[in-house]
Amino acid sequence: MIPVKGYAAPQAKIPLGPFKFERREVGPHDVQIEILYCGVCHSDIHQVRDEWGGSIFPMVPGHEIVGKITKVGDHVTKFKVGETAGVGCFVDSCRHCPSCQAGLEQYCDNGMVGTYNGRDKEGAPTYGGYSNQIVVDENYTLHVSDKLPLSGVAPLLCAGITTWSPLREWKVGKGHKLGVVGLGGLGHMAVKLGASLGAEVTVLSTSASKKADAAKLGAHHFVVTSDPEQVKAVSGTFDFIINTVSAQHEYNFFLQLLKLDGTMILVGVPPEAPTVSAFNLIMKRRRLAGSLIGGIKETQEMLDYCAEHNITSDVEVIKIDYINEAYERMIKGDVRYRFVIDMASL
Ligand code: NAP
Ligand code: ZN
Ligand code: ZN
Repeated sequence: MIPVKGYAAPQAKIPLGPFKFERREVGPHDVQIEILYCGVCHSDIHQVRDEWGGSIFPMVPGHEIVGKITKVGDHVTKFKVGETAGVGCFVDSCRHCPSCQAGLEQYCDNGMVGTYNGRDKEGAPTYGGYSNQIVVDENYTLHVSDKLPLSGVAPLLCAGITTWSPLREWKVGKGHKLGVVGLGGLGHMAVKLGASLGAEVTVLSTSASKKADAAKLGAHHFVVTSDPEQVKAVSGTFDFIINTVSAQHEYNFFLQLLKLDGTMILVGVPPEAPTVSAFNLIMKRRRLAGSLIGGIKETQEMLDYCAEHNITSDVEVIKIDYINEAYERMIKGDVRYRFVIDMASL
């Protein structure tokens, strides 16, 4: 077994602290990655606090992983020692169901194996990227270009692909008005990617202080959702809304901003059940949809696109012992726009 240093939550709602554990030896199809950076996703907070239920403790969170390959198994063909690699939200899936066959492993009929807070095929809990080493099957590992700063690349592995996938699925681009609700980790990537794909982007935010940043990120307009005049001006105008909000809020409020046949895509996962008025959907044939991260093939396409177009996440690099404070700041919407842990601080 491989000894690993990490940070874990011992139980729900207890601060994270140092944690030693072991990972499997590198198998014939595995690569071993020395983790350099790991992004901090709001899903880490939801799961550490057991807000979605079923959390497995101790929990080592982290699914925005970038590092260097230090060892490859005998049958590995896609990666070499010394290359830069990434790992996202899952590390395995059944590989034979229609979703897996279609490269949509995140929708595996038999359940994907989460990078953390999951169970591998032997039933052992998985531990994520708040750690210095990870062993992953090469088929669930991504190629990462060295062109871009790696701290800014790490969040692409979740925040990037989670916003890229619906933009591509719904073919969002030139001629579309796109609203992005919530300017956090996912939201700022939705702005960058949506604008890069040619959409006219409006940020819908509770934080007036983020207006100047939104413009720098590529947004064309900014609406403070507490200002009724600003909201009225965009009512019934959007082709698409990507909703990234992590806490309970009114879906009906945003549905009314869609035009005829407009679609609101939920990517944020508030723990509380939402209410949706049928009237808001039927009056303008609006659609409410959801989207979960992205498959391996699509994640690689997104990473390659970002390398080609110089797109990274705007990050605040932190030491690992700052993680509990970082969580508190994220809950207040005080992150510009992704915390990323420098694993050298472990
Ligand atoms: P984040 O960085 O904390 O950003 C969330 C943003 O939502 C905040 O910056 C804030 O933006 C807004 N917000 C927060 N609380 C709010 C409230 N009470 N009312 C209205 N707006 C509020 O979080 P994230 O990492 O981007 O993750 C966002 C959500 O997506 C989480 O629920 C996470 O679990 C989920 N997620 C889903 C997937 C998927 O595959 N679907 C993948 C990753 C994450 P403003 O200050 O601009 O209002
Ligand atoms: Zn995530
Ligand atoms: Zn499957």
